[in-house]
Amino acid sequence: MTEPIRDDLAAIPRYVPGKALPDALKLSSNEVPYGPLPGVADAIADAAADVHRYPDMGVTLLRGELSKRLGVDAERIATGTGSVALIGHLLQSIASPGSEVVYSWRSFEAYPIAATVAGLKSVQVPNTAEHGHDVDAMIAAVGPNTRAVILCTPNNPTGPALSAEEIDRVFAAVPESVLVVLDEAYREFVTDPSLPDGIERYGDRPNAVVFRTFSKAWGLAGLRIGYMIARPDVADAVRRCVIPFAVNGPGQAAALAALAAEDEMRRRVALVTSERKRVVTAARELVPDVPETQANFFWLPLGERAVEFAAHCEARGILVRPFAGDGVRVTVGLPEDNDAILEALRSFVKE
Ligand code: PMP
Repeated sequence: MTEPIRDDLAAIPRYVPGKALPDALKLSSNEVPYGPLPGVADAIADAAADVHRYPDMGVTLLRGELSKRLGVDAERIATGTGSVALIGHLLQSIASPGSEVVYSWRSFEAYPIAATVAGLKSVQVPNTAEHGHDVDAMIAAVGPNTRAVILCTPNNPTGPALSAEEIDRVFAAVPESVLVVLDEAYREFVTDPSLPDGIERYGDRPNAVVFRTFSKAWGLAGLRIGYMIARPDVADAVRRCVIPFAVNGPGQAAALAALAAEDEMRRRVALVTSERKRVVTAARELVPDVPETQANFFWLPLGERAVEFAAHCEARGILVRPFAGDGVRVTVGLPEDNDAILEALRSFVKE
């Protein structure tokens, strides 16, 4: 790149959004297959009357409601334009020359982008053979320059979630000056009762940061609202980095309406997770090493055939998310969507 553009930007892999084509079945972005929750569209319509005004920059009502529900002081909650933006702001708030962030790989593709933009060096630790985090190797990768360890649980794009024992081990191994970041974008889809809720179990640790989002189970991906829980000074540092008015007015109103429809959210999530069980069981008959998943997607470790499978699906009007040379992430959809992807997998494996 030419001056004055930073050289290191050229090395950042671009964020690849899940493909969207008119009339195609979109199983590429881990969205829920239902429309907005009841009350959400009306809340947005009501908020439309005020869009000539700037929104409440403090996101007071939404942070207040989250505070009540989560039992966490509102000053410990920061909101942003999707949790992806907040992850970036957190890294900006801890970056200094030479500093590092440790995370597993493969994991959420925004981490290397956010780290480089913030000026942090990425230390990527390969996943285990079961496609989960290798917690011991991650602990071993923590050094004097480490500012944060990101645990993506359940892990996007592979699906496994971390046990309490594994997360406990990370907290026990790192000094308090290193943030342990739990990215729980898919927490609502976790069905294994032994798995910890990051806010409940770790929320009060001084170096814990937990990210959540309204994009997935809450059905508001298009409005871009994420939040994080941290120690008051960490949350304050992140708020200093957030772009003013990062969460817009209709988004704030919609998130409150979505929270009011929690029962319906849980009902929808239960449909998705029961389908997940069915589709993963069937997929394993065709691709035996599909890993355990606690999210609303599953991973097909197809290696060199990943891109080919995505093309095979696209020819059948189905969009999935390939990671070249590695695997394909498929979002769990409606029963008929899942039948369609299983059929595509069957014909692909037989080819
Ligand atoms: N974390 C993880 C693990 C994700 O998969 C995603 C979305 N793909 C995000 C964070 C960001 O979600 P959003 O910005 O929509 O809140």
